[in-house]
Amino acid sequence: MTIRMTRRQALGTLAGAGLALGAAPRLLGAEAAATAAPQAPFALPPLPYPADALEPHLDAETMRLHHGKHHAGYVAKLNDAVARAPELAGRSVERLLADLDALPEGVRAAVRDQGGGHANHSLLWASLSPRGGGEPAGELGGALRGAFGSFGAFTEAFRAAAAGVFGSGWGWLALDRRRGLVIESTPNQGSPISAGQVPLLGVDVWEHAYYLKYQNRRAEYLEAFLRVVDWRAVEERFRRARA
Ligand code: MN
Repeated sequence: MTIRMTRRQALGTLAGAGLALGAAPRLLGAEAAATAAPQAPFALPPLPYPADALEPHLDAETMRLHHGKHHAGYVAKLNDAVARAPELAGRSVERLLADLDALPEGVRAAVRDQGGGHANHSLLWASLSPRGGGEPAGELGGALRGAFGSFGAFTEAFRAAAAGVFGSGWGWLALDRRRGLVIESTPNQGSPISAGQVPLLGVDVWEHAYYLKYQNRRAEYLEAFLRVVDWRAVEERFRRARA
């Protein structure tokens, strides 16, 4: 009974609100519509699989916090930053990161850190799969062998770059300006995009990415990470970037 009453009251309130919203533009005119708070330009992309899908390699609690708190935080702070620079409206995060020097000084550091965080994590979720691991076939497999000698030599160099990051940062497989494969690392939320590169695969070596399950054992986390890499997604990215 109480529930029914509450629901009816709620519906009544919604109907009233709908009427008020519908009436507002006519009563207040276009000016009021123009000053209404704009939609935040950047949004947290949903995880493309359940948070526990990458168990036991990447644990569900880490995935939930990493996506729902850390990545969400970068998105919120990026939105706060671009709200201070209306001239940047409509630009993708990749475009913002591609020329940091061209940005207004007041938002440059925030775009580098929060925008980098948003771009890096968006790429990360889309690079993993419960059916991942193994070795890439096709063009990327051949290109990795060409650049590094063998897939094993590539993973060794990739893990060494990520293991060697002092403090927080990322290890990367990227295409350089001449569209050759390179292994890189960036501090904090630095993006290869800001160096004119195309990131293909990034591994997050901030402690928030692995500490709950692996504590200080970053090398063990890196090994587990490679077991869930979706090489088909990386290959697709590689082909698009070289096209
Ligand atoms: Mn992270």
